[in-house]
Amino acid sequence: MTQVRLHVYILSLFLIAVLIAISTFSTFDATSLTFRVMGVYWLFSLLYYHLRVNSRRGSTSIEYGINYSVSLVLFTGPFGLFLFEAVYRLAGYLYKKKTKTDEPGEGIQAFYNVGSFVIQGTAAYYVYQWLLPWFDGNLIAFWLLVFLLIAVTAVLSDLFLLGVFSLLGDIRTRADVTAFLKERSILDMAKTSFSNGLLLLLLEQRNWTAIIGLFVLNYLVSQSYLVKAQIAQDKHDRDKYEHMAYTDFLTGLHNRAYMEMKMKELEKTREPIGIVVADIDKFKTINDTYNHSVGDRVIQHFAAALKESARSDDLLARSGGEEFTMFLRGRSYETCLALVEELRRQVERDTVEAEFRDETKHIAYTASFGLYFFTEQEDVPIEKGYIYADQLLLESKQHGRNRVTASAGQRRKSAQPPN
Ligand code: GH3
Ligand code: MG
Ligand code: MG
Repeated sequence: MTQVRLHVYILSLFLIAVLIAISTFSTFDATSLTFRVMGVYWLFSLLYYHLRVNSRRGSTSIEYGINYSVSLVLFTGPFGLFLFEAVYRLAGYLYKKKTKTDEPGEGIQAFYNVGSFVIQGTAAYYVYQWLLPWFDGNLIAFWLLVFLLIAVTAVLSDLFLLGVFSLLGDIRTRADVTAFLKERSILDMAKTSFSNGLLLLLLEQRNWTAIIGLFVLNYLVSQSYLVKAQIAQDKHDRDKYEHMAYTDFLTGLHNRAYMEMKMKELEKTREPIGIVVADIDKFKTINDTYNHSVGDRVIQHFAAALKESARSDDLLARSGGEEFTMFLRGRSYETCLALVEELRRQVERDTVEAEFRDETKHIAYTASFGLYFFTEQEDVPIEKGYIYADQLLLESKQHGRNRVTASAGQRRKSAQPPN
């Protein structure tokens, strides 16, 4: 049903373009000059073909290209623009079919483009005819007028696209519309205005060298811009995937892969580090008493508490299900021990709010910790330090949980809970 409505909408736009073409045919100036102009535009449009940027919005892809149709329509009239668009879109369609690079809906998209561009261009043409008497002879006024024409085409283009998106359900709310309209850039419009205005002036002078020069220049500038944009996009994608690969989704903390990568870097600095392994006590019971989702809330709560104790240059990661590891930097053994002890007390004091069977539960839990303090002089790889910390955690578990077992080289100390 949506598809039918969309096709009716697009074919209506196309039909309006056909009606425009028929009704303006009598004013079409079929001279060799007109065809030469259309030939040059056609040639450069083909050259520009691969410079179009495809942007995806929901289920539709929109092409953003440089649009010279305003200068063309002002020179050849609406029928000329229709002829140009029809031949250009048909050639594009056949080319894609032949090279098998066509996407589904390519044909209907060609109809849309002809319809939309011809209507926009025709509107610009009549606004130009109408306002020309007031603007003629003054260069600043001429540029203002060109910018106005580009603005008219931009508004119409956005309106037609909004029609497509609302039919497809990709745009639903007023906020969607505002966000879509904000994508239009003034700078882009200025660029289009400048290119079209200059082309029009040069066409009037029949200055072919400058016309071709302008097309080539625009092509080269866009080409280098496209390369830069592609590099920036690639980097953005890489950063995003890297971020995803190193982030734990439940807690937003780093994951174990990240921790292992950073441990190698920390190893090289040879600085004193307090390695803390922390594990929630009897976590299975929480999962069993309530459910997995309540368990998740407890894990998130514990993660948040750890994060609050850590500084930005510390390394904190979810190293296992309900097990976390901290690498505390730039602190003495005593400071690390006090920090972990305070953390343990805080976890014991706090409760987690969670929904369970339509009730808000306040769940208390405790955690056990192992702290191994890694001094500069120590000739132990950092992985060993992590294993020691894990063994100290095991001691905390064996001695009844809810406690910190810590060791700094020879010094060894087990801190008991107060009661
Ligand atoms: P201990 O005090 O000895 O640490 O006991 P425990 O029950 O906490 O330890 P155990 O390692 O036996 O159980 C950990 C449980 O954590 C087992 C696993 O099903 C659960 N778990 C692991 N990852 C997640 C998670 O992401 N969400 C939830 N809800 N549970 C998890
Ligand atoms: Mg546990
Ligand atoms: Mg565990």
